[in-house]
Amino acid sequence: MPHRPSPTSSSFEQLPLAPAVLANLRQLGYLNMTPIQVASLPIALAGHDLIAQAKTGSGKTAVFALTLLARLDVSRFEVQALVLCPTRELADQVAREIRRLARSEDNIKVLSLVGGSIMRPQMASLAHGAHVVVGTPGRIMDHLQRESLKLDTLNTLVLDEADRMLDMGFFDDIVYIARRCPKHRQTLLFSATYPEGIAQLSRQFMRQAREVKLTERPAADQIRQRFYQVANEERLDAVARLLNHYRPVGALAFCNTRQQCRDLLKLLREQGFDALALHGELEQRERDQVLIQFANHSCSVLVATDVAARGLDIAQLAAVINVDVTPDPEVYIHRIGRTGRVDQAGWALSLVSANQMRRVDNITKELGTEVEWHPIDEMTATSDQPLRAPMATLQILGGRKDKIRPGDVLGALTGEAGLKADQVGKIDVTETVTYVAVARAIAQEAQRRLAAGKLKGKSVKVRVLDISGATQTNAPSRANASIRRRPKP
Ligand code: ADP
Ligand code: MG
Repeated sequence: MPHRPSPTSSSFEQLPLAPAVLANLRQLGYLNMTPIQVASLPIALAGHDLIAQAKTGSGKTAVFALTLLARLDVSRFEVQALVLCPTRELADQVAREIRRLARSEDNIKVLSLVGGSIMRPQMASLAHGAHVVVGTPGRIMDHLQRESLKLDTLNTLVLDEADRMLDMGFFDDIVYIARRCPKHRQTLLFSATYPEGIAQLSRQFMRQAREVKLTERPAADQIRQRFYQVANEERLDAVARLLNHYRPVGALAFCNTRQQCRDLLKLLREQGFDALALHGELEQRERDQVLIQFANHSCSVLVATDVAARGLDIAQLAAVINVDVTPDPEVYIHRIGRTGRVDQAGWALSLVSANQMRRVDNITKELGTEVEWHPIDEMTATSDQPLRAPMATLQILGGRKDKIRPGDVLGALTGEAGLKADQVGKIDVTETVTYVAVARAIAQEAQRRLAAGKLKGKSVKVRVLDISGATQTNAPSRANASIRRRPKP
C-alpha cells in the first residue's frame, strides 16, 4: 500500500528503539526518517515479513539494519542475521552501514563474506563467531556446503537489491540458502523495481509479507515528449533519423502492426543498427533470448507491438519511439511510461502523419497539456559513428542443470580468459544455456578464450550471438595457441 507520511510522523523517537540507538542516529545526522523508513520500519520492527520497494538512495539499508540489530542478542555468539547482496561492493557497503548503526552497542560482530577473496580467512573469522553475516549468494552457498557457516540460529534473513540478484541469476542460490534457515524467522526483501521473480521468491519462502511500495510515477519532466510530423512513406526512415540523432543506449520502438515491425527491423538492420524484434510469433525460448540481449545491452533497438511488449520489465529505457501514434491515448501513456524511470529522464518520441492528428488531440486531452512539435528535418546525425550496442552476448551451451552459476562464468572470464571485470556485463543462467554480455569490441576474443579454457572443470561450447540470430564459431587451434602463450596475470 502506498503510504504518505505526515511531516510530524517522521521522527525516529517514536520507534521502539533503545535510547542509545536513538542517540547514535542523532550523531550520524539521521534526524528524520526517509519516506520508506516511515512506511516500513514500524512493520519490520513489529516482526512482520516485509517486501519494500523504493528507488535507490531512499534509505532502505537502515530499515533492515535497525530491525536486525534490535533483535540481536550480543551475548549469544552465533549468526543471528544474514543479509544477501548482489555484489561484493554492495555487501561491503551494507556491512559498513550496519556497523555504523551498531556503534551504540559494544562488540557486535558484522562479517562480510564475498566472492573474490580467499575462503580460509573467512572460515577462520566465522569460527570466531559473528552476529551478522553480509554476503553474496554464491559465497554464502560455498560456506554452507562446507559447513563453515550454519544458519540454524538465524532470526532475520534479508534480501537486499533482490531485483538485481534476480538479474544476475541468483534465484536458485537464494532459494537454496533460504531453505537452510529456520522456519521461524523474519524475512525482509528490498528492491528498487518489482519484476515477476520477486513475487515468485516471496511465495516460495515469505510468510504473509506486508508490502510497502513507494514508486513514483515518472514525473512529467522525467519523460521528454516530442512529436514529429512525417509523411507515411518516410515514417520508417524517420525512426533511423531519430536514433542517429538521440543515440539512446536502449530504445523500444512501438509498431501498430506485425508487418510494420518486420519492415522496420529490416530497414534498421540494413542501416547497421543492432536491432531485434519482439512479436507474437516467437517461441518462448526465442523471446527470452531477445529480451536477454536487449536487457544486457547487446541490442540497442527493440522493435515491438503492444501485445508482444506486455509484461516487459526493463529498467532504464533511454527512449520510447512511437512509430505510429495509437488511437488509444491510454496505450500512449502506457508506452511512454516505460522510459524516464527511476533517476533518469527519457525520451518519448512520436511520429505522426497528417491523417493521425486527431489521435494527438486525444492524447493532449488525456495528458491535460499541449505537446511539443519539432521538425523531423532537424534530426541530423550527431555522430559519424553508427549507433551500435555496447555489448555482445556469448552463448554458452550449459546452464543450471550443469551446475553452472554466474560466479563460475565471471570467474572463468576474468581469471583464465584474462578479461577485466568491467568488460563483463549481465550473466543469465537458464536451465540449459548461459548468456553473458561482454564488451562488443572484445567479444570474439572472449569467445575464443572461453572456448579454449574450462568452465566448472569442463570445456564448453561458446558462440557469439549475432544480433541477427545467426552465430559465429571460432577457429579453435590458433586461438588455443595464443591463449597458451599469454602469461597468467
Ligand atoms: P538505498 O539502499 O535505498 O539505495 P541507502 O540505505 O544506501 O539507500 O541510503 C542512502 C544514503 O542515505 C546513505 O548514505 C545513508 O547513510 C543515508 N540515510 C539513510 N537514512 C537516512 C536518514 N534517515 N537520514 C539521513 N540520511 C540517511
Ligand atoms: Mg540499498
